[in-house]
Amino acid sequence: MIDRDTFISAPKVYYHTFGCKLNFAETASVAENFSRNGYVTAAKEETPDLVVVNSCSVTAEADRKCRSTLRSFNRRWPNAAILVTGCYAQLHPEQLLEIPGVRAVVGINDKLKLPEIARTALTETVTTTFPSASELREFMPSCSRGDRTRFFLKVQDGCDYWCTYCTIPKARGRSRSGTIPQLVEQARLVAEQGGKEIVLTGVNIGDFGHGRDDNFTDLCRALDQVDGIERYRISSIEPNLLTDELIDFVAGSRAFMPHFHIPLQNGNDEVLKLMRRRYDTALFAAKVNKVKEVIPDAFIGVDLIVGARGETSERFESSKAFVESLPISHLHVFSYSERPGTKALDIEHVVSQEEKHIRSAIMHELSARKHAEFASSFLGTVRPVLLEHGHGDNSVTGGFTDNYLRIETSLDKCMDNTICKMRLDTLMDDGETIAASIVEE
Ligand code: SF4
Repeated sequence: MIDRDTFISAPKVYYHTFGCKLNFAETASVAENFSRNGYVTAAKEETPDLVVVNSCSVTAEADRKCRSTLRSFNRRWPNAAILVTGCYAQLHPEQLLEIPGVRAVVGINDKLKLPEIARTALTETVTTTFPSASELREFMPSCSRGDRTRFFLKVQDGCDYWCTYCTIPKARGRSRSGTIPQLVEQARLVAEQGGKEIVLTGVNIGDFGHGRDDNFTDLCRALDQVDGIERYRISSIEPNLLTDELIDFVAGSRAFMPHFHIPLQNGNDEVLKLMRRRYDTALFAAKVNKVKEVIPDAFIGVDLIVGARGETSERFESSKAFVESLPISHLHVFSYSERPGTKALDIEHVVSQEEKHIRSAIMHELSARKHAEFASSFLGTVRPVLLEHGHGDNSVTGGFTDNYLRIETSLDKCMDNTICKMRLDTLMDDGETIAASIVEE
């Protein structure tokens, strides 16, 4: 173990994040807090004194990846102290503490105390306590620069829905949100740093304002007024919380993009009931149709879980037919993963691993077809694109249109973080990306 006196200079920290955009936003806040407390971020190729891992536990595979990465960090930097926080840490601290090099496993409520805990963890193993889900009530504001052009602003945390397959409410606690003035101020700071696009993130962001008298649409209205931010995207919103008021607001807003991401999870009503989702397929179809009615060019991404318990072959076929009937643009397909302690484990009819693979392939194929159809319908049109990833002369540059079509173009200068009008020329071989050319800067 390292002696405290070894740290004549500031301890160097390496950060690693698993999982969702929310975790990335939170890691950025954790890193800022470490800097304020005298730590420095380890430069590339530098050996860190401390490794901070923000974990995810969305599937058994996410847990496995986290454990294996922690072991590889310990092999690579045997003298570094490893601290783990995040959903996996909150749910199963005992599993993580067994891994060599892990000196502290820190619950979600204590993320901001990490620098303090790290002081001790640099020399010895620290025992921390884990409040139960009902005690997790603090909202930790977070905003991160996801890449060179896009920022992720956390507006809400936790969830009170308890869908039968999900462990997130247990890991993240009760639904809670930031305040509108606080989030508007964070958006202003993003604009000051030159940010043009903000993605609003959270666990169940449509539940923003729960227990207060403001709601998610009120937040969007306030954010729309922030000078300098030219684009907002809503990362994902539960269908029952996607109100007509919000859809109409987005349709007429200054900066909210024609882009929705709506978790369906299954297109069969019986499976939706078993999952304890708060809508049926009729409501879901009504929301998608409302979006298309008022914003015909909108990109609609949909989450889908295949092979959930209770999804018989007939129910899978009906789910597929329902998804096929929807005017959506893309599917995010996940294979159901058994999570210990969830109510889903009581549901009969278990889908085999092999059958899950088959269903996943079928839905991926359907997604590719829908995405290609959506992208093709815009060929020959001109749309605003936020350019990103410029790498100098003659490099291939990427970007997204307002309605979330990925484009690629060749430029003779770096135009990173510029919004310009582009003609959408041809669909590339991946069936999603469009080769585009600038018509106006
Ligand atoms: S809405 Fe359901 S799936 Fe989403 S976080 Fe809450 S419990 Fe989990």
